[in-house]
Amino acid sequence: MKKNIAILCSGGDVSGMNPALKRFVEYALEKKLTPYFIYDGYEGLIDNQIKEASYCDVAGIINRGGTKIGSARSERFMHKEYRQRAKENLDALGIDSLIVLGGDGSFRGLHTFYKEHKIKFCGIPSTIDNDIQGTDYCLGVDTALNIIKISVDAIRDTASSFKRAFIVETMGRECGYLALITHLTSGSELCLIPEIEYNLDTYEAKFKEEIKNGRRYFIVIVSEGISQKSSEIASWFEEKIGIESRVSVLGHLQRGGNPTVKDRLMAFKFVTLAIDALLERSTESIVCYDAFGFHLKTLKSVVEKPHKLNEELLSLLK
Ligand code: ADP
Repeated sequence: MKKNIAILCSGGDVSGMNPALKRFVEYALEKKLTPYFIYDGYEGLIDNQIKEASYCDVAGIINRGGTKIGSARSERFMHKEYRQRAKENLDALGIDSLIVLGGDGSFRGLHTFYKEHKIKFCGIPSTIDNDIQGTDYCLGVDTALNIIKISVDAIRDTASSFKRAFIVETMGRECGYLALITHLTSGSELCLIPEIEYNLDTYEAKFKEEIKNGRRYFIVIVSEGISQKSSEIASWFEEKIGIESRVSVLGHLQRGGNPTVKDRLMAFKFVTLAIDALLERSTESIVCYDAFGFHLKTLKSVVEKPHKLNEELLSLLK
């Protein structure tokens, strides 16, 4: 009997989801599986928005950000009766294996679903925040970093023309990864992230000296986790350093855009491993990537501990 397998996107969308959908359909068909798309995350699973997918569905999407099948958060999936409905929808189509592109919240939901209904799953970490413990890389991060790079380079043009300090806010929730990597690769003067305490006054003498020596502008990268402080930081530059300042919140533009080569390749590999894992009878796993390559990990090892930013990276900032 032909086996059926489905994929859905849950939580925040990332660039790289469309390349993942394309690989999913192509590799599933190669493995003689019937691929299904579940539209709009767990909401679509509950509402039976599940359709068989073909090559035609994934033609021309590899270069598009976001996700063709939609993503969503679902309050209803937190409740047993709706998960029961989701299970009935999958049963009606003979689907017993799911691939989910999402974050640790989405994976927790899958674990509960597996415990109750024995629907096998493989999770693919997908969040630009790069804040999932157990993997060094989440799908979408490289595209987000490249979008931020273009934005900061553009801000530099205006900052230098006008003699200004720009406080640039990146996403990342409580994780400073995007801000830290941006700082290291954009030549910004200062990076403030939740993982490291700071005292602006320790920079006062240095910055004033730099202005005396010809510096015309400052770029400060601030992570979302301390973004409530951005206007205070801007005021500090105006009052203590004597330079006009602006806050620039990059916001949701960081999540979209043409997926980079790295994200397309990561999508390809993540999905290949996920399908192989489900074919090899893995029941509950997450595909992770670290210095040793790709591994399947248990849900527990991925969500058990809070995420911590890599010490080696942090030391580059300290
Ligand atoms: P992310 O996957 O990006 O961490 P969320 O934490 O918002 O995003 O989780 C996405 C969805 O996963 C939620 O809207 C909900 O439907 C589902 N979910 C999260 N935690 C649970 C849980 N403990 N039980 C059932 N479903 C859950």
